[in-house]
Amino acid sequence: MPSSLPQELIVEIIRELIDDNPAAHFHLYDSFNNKKGWDHIRSLTLASRNFRGITLSLWFRQLYLERAADIKDIDRLFPNLKSIWCRHLHCVQHDGHDLQFWDLAGFKRLESVRIAWLRTTITFDRNLEEVVPFRNIESSIKRLDVFKVPFPSPMVLKALILPFVDIVVLRLNLIRTWCGLCNICTKVRLPFPAPKKLLYEGGIGLPLHYVHFLNSFLHLEEITISVPDFGSGRPSPGLSDKVNDNFWMGECDQCMQLMYEDEEFRKDWVAKKLGSIAHNVPFVKPPKLKKVEWNILESSSEEESLFYGSDSDESQYDESE
Ligand SMILES: [Zn+2]
Repeated sequence: MPSSLPQELIVEIIRELIDDNPAAHFHLYDSFNNKKGWDHIRSLTLASRNFRGITLSLWFRQLYLERAADIKDIDRLFPNLKSIWCRHLHCVQHDGHDLQFWDLAGFKRLESVRIAWLRTTITFDRNLEEVVPFRNIESSIKRLDVFKVPFPSPMVLKALILPFVDIVVLRLNLIRTWCGLCNICTKVRLPFPAPKKLLYEGGIGLPLHYVHFLNSFLHLEEITISVPDFGSGRPSPGLSDKVNDNFWMGECDQCMQLMYEDEEFRKDWVAKKLGSIAHNVPFVKPPKLKKVEWNILESSSEEESLFYGSDSDESQYDESE
């Protein structure tokens, strides 16, 4: 690459090589590092002082970390990384590892955070403030992706989302859903043919327990929930790829089959989900929420064996607020 090129052109060429828009390539099931290896940029970092500066500034627009402790070394190694370069933080909490706490002090320009949350054993219900895994946020973070949550109880999601008070877009990639009828996390089993996408507008579309903790997010406009459908669900009249008469918002097939037979109960429940009548606590929507989109994904046997466990483990995560 001739060094006589204009600086702007050099920047654009390196940007193209690095592909610094990794957020565009986030896959629904991808919870691990989607950056290319350091070898991809090694020669650029060695070519010249100018090339190295440009390359590092673009490379570290996205930072991928599996160890929260590594944040302590950043200032010594790359003094500009937190304050200037980094826009997208992608971190991982592995299952079976100690709970990590991510100190985001010094990150001044973060636009998005993505947490792959793989823990299956949670003790969030003891003291929420003590287990919130993010601390000292100094950026106005607009987008949060919470991925691969095995047991998305309201308390778990609340702890993960709570610190991000400025979010406009929230994306949840869940392995189970929260059934508002039995108040446990369950695998989605929808009747065939199942819907692929459900779209709600006007601030509805969430399990009621989620509404109660998300209504304090004053800037939240859009939520996308992706969840795999394991199929073979019990019959649920009014729910198919063509109709959604009961406004499905994560209920399990067993509850729908058992409880929707009672017409009075069904009407009452739907009215509560739509905010038409009061539930246990007042229905207060996140004030700016415009859209809730559910993406119903096909599950694969490989993913099931790796991450989802068996049906029988669901009851031990019973957790109602
Ligand atoms: Zn249920």
